[in-house]
Parts: sequence; structure tokens; C-alpha cells
Amino acid sequence: MQNTRQPSELQSLTGVGPKVEQALNRLGLYSFRDLLFHLPARYEDRTTLVEIAALQPGIPQLLQGEITAQSVIPGRRMQAVLTFEDLTGAARIRLFHFSRAYLATLKSAVSVRIFGEPRINQGVTEFIHPEISVFKGDPPPLDDTLTPIYPTTDGLSQPKLRDLIRQALAKGADFYALDELLDAVHTKHRPVLWDALLALHQPTKGLPASPYVERLAFEELLAHRLLLLTRRDDYIRYQAPYLQSEAPEARKQLITELPFELTEAQQRVLKEIDQDLQSGHPMLRLLQGDVGSGKTLVAALAALPVIDAGFQVALMAPTELLSEQHAAQFTTWFSLLGISVGWLTGSMKAQPRRTILEHIANGSCQMVIGTHALFQTDIVFHRLGLAIIDEQHRFGVAQRLLLREKGKDLTPHQLIMTATPIPRTLAMTHFADLDVSVIDALPPGRTPVDTRLLSQTRAAEITNRLDAQFNEGGQAYWVCTLIEETDQSIAEAAETRAEKLKQQLPHRRVGLVHGRMKADDKSQVMAAFSHGDLDLLVATTVIEVGVNVPNANIMVIENPERLGLAQLHQLRGRVGRGARVSFCLLLAGDSISQQSRDRLNLLKETNDGFILAEADLQLRGPGDVIGTRQTGELSFRVADLTQHAGLLDEIASLAETIRNGPQGIREQLIERWIGHEEHFAHV
Ligand code: ADP
Ligand code: MG
Repeated sequence: MQNTRQPSELQSLTGVGPKVEQALNRLGLYSFRDLLFHLPARYEDRTTLVEIAALQPGIPQLLQGEITAQSVIPGRRMQAVLTFEDLTGAARIRLFHFSRAYLATLKSAVSVRIFGEPRINQGVTEFIHPEISVFKGDPPPLDDTLTPIYPTTDGLSQPKLRDLIRQALAKGADFYALDELLDAVHTKHRPVLWDALLALHQPTKGLPASPYVERLAFEELLAHRLLLLTRRDDYIRYQAPYLQSEAPEARKQLITELPFELTEAQQRVLKEIDQDLQSGHPMLRLLQGDVGSGKTLVAALAALPVIDAGFQVALMAPTELLSEQHAAQFTTWFSLLGISVGWLTGSMKAQPRRTILEHIANGSCQMVIGTHALFQTDIVFHRLGLAIIDEQHRFGVAQRLLLREKGKDLTPHQLIMTATPIPRTLAMTHFADLDVSVIDALPPGRTPVDTRLLSQTRAAEITNRLDAQFNEGGQAYWVCTLIEETDQSIAEAAETRAEKLKQQLPHRRVGLVHGRMKADDKSQVMAAFSHGDLDLLVATTVIEVGVNVPNANIMVIENPERLGLAQLHQLRGRVGRGARVSFCLLLAGDSISQQSRDRLNLLKETNDGFILAEADLQLRGPGDVIGTRQTGELSFRVADLTQHAGLLDEIASLAETIRNGPQGIREQLIERWIGHEEHFAHV
């Protein structure tokens, strides 16, 4: 897509040079249109004068009167005290930053307007550093609209930003191609776009803002949905490996070899996947299933018809740890069937790497397992038919395009798996480009993890408890978290904790794993834990996803209040995988808020990942649920899912109408709202 923005559009506004432009860019503002979509956080009312006798404490108000006295009080912090009077009374003004010259302009009997928030100090109404403007003769006219207060940044004052937005607005609707793209029937007679923008930037007093915000949010959410549907349409119009409708013998054989039956939910989603694989077009499916619901097996069974038809399957895991575990699991399952499994990691030595690359390129490796190293440019697949992406619902467009290239003439099918339950609002907004399958039941016979919230002061008691479990043959994880999750500091915290635990439990075998260790060392430690050669594994959240050691039955999490509920639920999912009764002990900090406590208590009450993800969404926002808080990937300009979720059904059906309607509208909507981000996504 063409970048339609001109390089120095912003600098053509009066008062914008490179410095101001940089500040605007920091706010994510690159064009006039961005300025118009930058909405006020709140408003101030300078439309009416308030008399001293009628002031309300706590809200900024505009007054008019005279300065009748002033004095300077010396001291460590010099201050000026002025008396301000109108016809109804007197108030005190206190200034801490002032010059003599400035005070001279406020000499007795000049008329002033002041704007500020009054408070009552020992019975006297006072203003600390109000805005003061002096006038002579007739008072200047009052504002006829509320004053917008915008989110801003260093180097860009509120009046400056306000002025720039005013300039942008003055250029008018035509200038920006902001014509109404939606007809009134479709928007259910909500205000038109331009009116909404005007109403929000220059609001008339007394008119509530929310219908106008909603109008913008409606269009923005619609544009996002259209973008995702467009991406989806673009992807699935390609040819994909076409597969037989009969499941191959290999699948039946693997199922018979399993020591358990597939759950109904596993069978159902497998059918959904099979239908996609038989469609001739690339599958784009998100497989959701709570921790331990058996997604890996579904992935393996989905791979078999693809391999049977002569294609390769790649499974990509987010960490080396997990990819190694998958490689071991798939080798066990697939070696029975005579299918070759290869494992590729980023940290491999040159020679083994070259060998495996060769096998991938000549097709002798049928099932390839690795991290995102799999998508590096030097990796050439012989015939990639299916890519399975584990625990990676954030798998983005750019990666998807890379994947397409890996498939050569045919576009690979995609199966994206996640244990993070995705609340409906997020599924409808951020995952609208994917079909969704849900494994909604755990295999039978699992006992829920007994979750307790404990104070850190009880750490000693906890080590005793661990000791008792170790006596019975159990194993435990001890997870360290830190606010500043730099690799360095969190690794140090884990090291310190491991040392302490070694001292407290000298007769036990304590291991340590964190993100700064070499891959080989990590996998050695994991292997030792998994073989039962370690009793206790101190870890950072690297073990969050996927790690499967069924004998482990206790998980201790330090400072759980620092993590989202969905993430804690993931961690907790590392235990309760075997026959033993399992515990998750949350060692909360002593000074956590009641809200944090309530939030953590929810973990005690439910094992249902959906409920926890919903709670995260409500309490901490979407970034926390799907783990993209830092990247800002999920941010809307205007829409707020906690407020506007109610619009989503209407938007979904309108998106269908527009998608099937006349050309052009959908492109214009996407360009209007997402324009340059879309541009970034393609470079
Ligand atoms: P997740 O969905 O979290 O990735 P896994 O695929 O790691 O879960 O499965 C967790 C455990 O459940 C594994 O040990 C797996 O072998 C086992 N499992 C998978 N399917 C079933 C089933 N139908 N019945 C019993 N156990 C199963
Ligand atoms: Mg898994």
C-alpha cells in the first residue's frame, strides 16, 4: 500500500518545526488526520464566569474580578499572596514561581480573569497558581465551547497542541477526505463523522460526549475488523495442499497406540481441522484449549494426513525448552509410524545445523520442530504443507507472509495454538482473521490444583511443606517474578532464591533455570527435572508455556500480584498433570492492595481460564490477556473495549455487508483509521 502521507505535512501548520513535530510523533501523530483523531482526555469549562460566593471546590472554574492587595512572604520558599475580589467576596491566590516584574503587572485595581481549582484552607477560599490574565477596558469574550485537554508529552504544551488541532479542524472536512462513508441506516443514525469530531474537539457545554465517542469507536472497530477480514481474504484465496477426505492409516495407528481415548472435544476440533485441510485453500485456524487440554496431540494428528500426502509439517514453539519437549514427544509418537522428526534451534552448532537444514531442504525430514528460527531466510523447505504455531496467538501478519514464501507454489495451512483463553470481545476484534476451534474439556481424571494465597512471611513454613512432598516423591517449581523484567535482574533474583533454598533444604536437589542461561544448560536442567533427578526447580516465567513434567505437583509463585491472571493460570497449569494432588502456592507481597488480593483470590475460586481471562480484560485491559501490553499492538485510537464491546455484533454484520458491497468503502475506512500502520506491516 502506498504511504499517502506527505513527509512534512505537520510542519506546514503554523508553529510546527522539527522539535514540535518530534513531540507530535511521540504521541503517535504524523498527519493532520492523526491530530483530528487525537481526542481530549477531558474538558475544562471557560464558558461561564463563576462568582466567588458560588464556587464549588475541586473543579477548575473561571472567575473575573480585581487584585486588591498583594504581599511577598519571604522564607525558604518565597511566596506571593494576592487578594482577589469580585462583587460577591474575596479569595486568596498563592504563587510560588513569580518575578517582581510579573507582580507589578498585577498591581491593585487591575481587572483579571483567573482560572483554577479553588480549595478551602482554614476557612479561606484559595487558589494555588491559577492561570491569571489581565485585561483593560471591556472584558474579552468568553469561550463558547468547552476547552479540550489533550493527552500530551514533554515539549508540547497544552495550548500549543490545542492550537494545532484547531488549525487542523479549520481546514475542514473536505481537506481530509473525511466524508461520510457509512450511511445513516448502517450507523443506526448516529452522528456523522465530522460532526462527531467537531463535537469532541469543540464541545458545546451540556452535551454529553459519549454518543460522539461511540460514533468514532464504531467506525474504528469496523475499520479494524475490515482490515483483518481483508488479510484473511488475501491469504485464503491462494492454493493450499489439497488433502484426501479419508484419514490416513497412520492416524488410526497412532490413536490405537495411545494409552487413552481422545476426548470428545479433541475429536470435534480435529474434524474442524480436517475440513479445512480438505478445502484446497489455506487453513487459518486458532486452536484454543486450556492448559493440559491436549493440544499437542491434536497437532500431531492434524499433521498426519499432511505428511501422508507427501508434504512437510513444521511446528514452531516460543521457547527452545518447549521445542525440545515437543521434539521428544513427536519422536516418540512418530517413530512408531516411520515418520522422521527433526529438531532445529537457534543455538545449534554449525555442523548439526547444516545436516538438519539439508534434510529439511530435501524433504527427508518430514516433521520439523523448532523455534521461530524455523522462519529464518536460509531455511528452505522441500514442500511445507502445514505450519503449527504453538502458544503463539500473537503470530503476526509479517510472519504469516514469511510463511507463505516458505510454501513456494502452494500456501501452507496454518494452525495457531494457544492456551490463553480469548474472551469473545478479543476474538471479535483482534482475531477476526482466524477461524476458532475450542477444546473445551480437559481429559478425564484430572484433579483441580489446590490454590492458596499466602503471605511471604510464611516462606519457612512453605519450605517445610515442600520437604514433606519431596518425601512422598513429589517435585516442585518455584517461580520468581520481578517488576522490571529485564533478563538480568530477574535472573539474579532467581539465583538468589535458589541459593537460599539450597541452604534451607541442604539434603534436596535444587536446580535453576532462567532466560539468561545457555540453551544447552537450560535443557540439561529441564531434562534432570523431568527425569526426577531434581526435587525443586527454581525458575523464571520461562517455564510458563507448555512445559510438561507430570510428576511435579507443587508450584510456588513469588509476588504473583505482578502477573496477569491468565499468565498465572498458565504457570499453574504446569502442575496438576499427573495423579498426585497438586498445589499452587501464591506468595503475595505484604503490601498488596485489596484489589490485587481480590484478583488473586479469583485464582483460588476458579480453574476456568475463560473466567480468568475475562477478569484480566476487565481489570487490566486486552494487552494483559494476550501479552502484548508493551508492544502497543492492541491499541485503538478511540475505541475502548471495556466501553464499546456492545457494538461488536452490529459491527460484525456491517463488516460483512461492506465486504460484499461496492468496492472502495472498505479500503477507505482502513486507510482512514489504520493507514500508516498498515504501511508498516508491509515493509
Ligand atoms: P496443552 O493443551 O496444554 O498443550 P498437552 O498437549 O501438553 O496440553 O497435554 C497435556 C497432557 O495430557 C499430556 O501428557 C498428554 O499426553 C495428555 N493427554 C492428551 N490428550 C489426552 C486424552 N484424551 N486423555 C488423557 N490424556 C491426554
Ligand atoms: Mg501445549
